[in-house]
Amino acid sequence: MSFLVDKEGYYGEFGGAYIPEILHKCVHDLQQSYLPVIESEIFQREYRQLLRDYVGRPSPLYFAKRLSERYGCKIYLKREDLNHTGAHKINNTIGQILIARHLGKTRIIAETGAGQHGVATATVCALMNMECVVYMGATDVKRQHINVEKMKMLGATVVPVTSGNMTLKDATNEAIRDWCCHPANTFYIIGSTVGPHPYPDMVARLQSVISEEIKNQLQEKEGRDYPDYLMACVGGGSNAAGTIYHHIDDKRVKIVLAEAGGEGVETGKTAATIALGKTGIIHGAKTYVIQDEDGQIEEPYSISAGLDYPGIGPMHANLSAQHRAQVIPVNDNEAIEAGYELTLLEGIIPAIESAHALGALPKINFKPTDLVVLTVSGRGDKDIETYLKFKSL
Ligand SMILES: *Cc1c(COP(=O)(O)O)cnc(C)c1O
Repeated sequence: MSFLVDKEGYYGEFGGAYIPEILHKCVHDLQQSYLPVIESEIFQREYRQLLRDYVGRPSPLYFAKRLSERYGCKIYLKREDLNHTGAHKINNTIGQILIARHLGKTRIIAETGAGQHGVATATVCALMNMECVVYMGATDVKRQHINVEKMKMLGATVVPVTSGNMTLKDATNEAIRDWCCHPANTFYIIGSTVGPHPYPDMVARLQSVISEEIKNQLQEKEGRDYPDYLMACVGGGSNAAGTIYHHIDDKRVKIVLAEAGGEGVETGKTAATIALGKTGIIHGAKTYVIQDEDGQIEEPYSISAGLDYPGIGPMHANLSAQHRAQVIPVNDNEAIEAGYELTLLEGIIPAIESAHALGALPKINFKPTDLVVLTVSGRGDKDIETYLKFKSL
């Protein structure tokens, strides 16, 4: 049995495509075409060239000597923070915009929470000269002013969404509504391993360049192409999926994922979907969802805007249900502390999302011989004010 997607778009009992009638043709066309396009020579040539010359790949696999001494094992950091636009999200948007072009689409839409996926999408739309509309909750538009200005500077139209709590979930609903109105010319670039099949698998494959590189870099540095542990943070799950993709069925490799505990899973102010979620449908997929007794989706909370999603990708729901991955909630204060620790030990200021992965390190009993690869999904430039605010509390 594999932990990758099956032919029907399921990971165990999770996944599938639960979509309105009007999108059936669109989604069906994408299900039929995404693999042939991704595997085609012409796609691969352009995708690889842009990853190299535009994104700056391969990203380094850096041996973190002082961090390793601190935790009594051998820790390598996969440096997605060094990518163009500062995180792993660009790997996915480059791939999806090339797929959109292959399918003859001329208009791109996206949803965004903190604005990171919006900026990564607006960036590739500028690069490819495509129309770009980004849906963003009105609350987030206010909170993430700089990213809104970046998207506009890149030529995108940012639409503030005023329904619901005016955050990511509502922006996603609005993007889906737009897609329903313009299925013929519009391609919806989803920012994580969520949404209806084939999105989770498509995004995982586009991010799997991360684990492909890890394999090669470990072979070169350690003489073996697998680690004992792979670690990453999980919001929707795309940097984690990219990190584990080529080792997902290799039982020699332990998988440890960090989800956002917020102020604590028992406080109600949390985004720990694996700890608290129940099976439900969100944004076109069956997965774990944080919901109340009536099945209403509850508003998640995390200090990290990139992790406060009330669902989780179906791949990760299944990895947890099958006990293939250990998913650990890391609270705000633990993540902030871990972010400061990495900064002082290695001179690397991580995104607060990535700091959650680092915050899981003290929760594991490593052996001195353990080889650990932890993905630093993004850089912390965008988070300096949050770091400072928290430190002064
Ligand atoms: C968006 C984001 C995440 C969370 O998204 P995933 O799809 O779970 O990877 C993590 N880290 C950074 C830096 C992000 O921008």
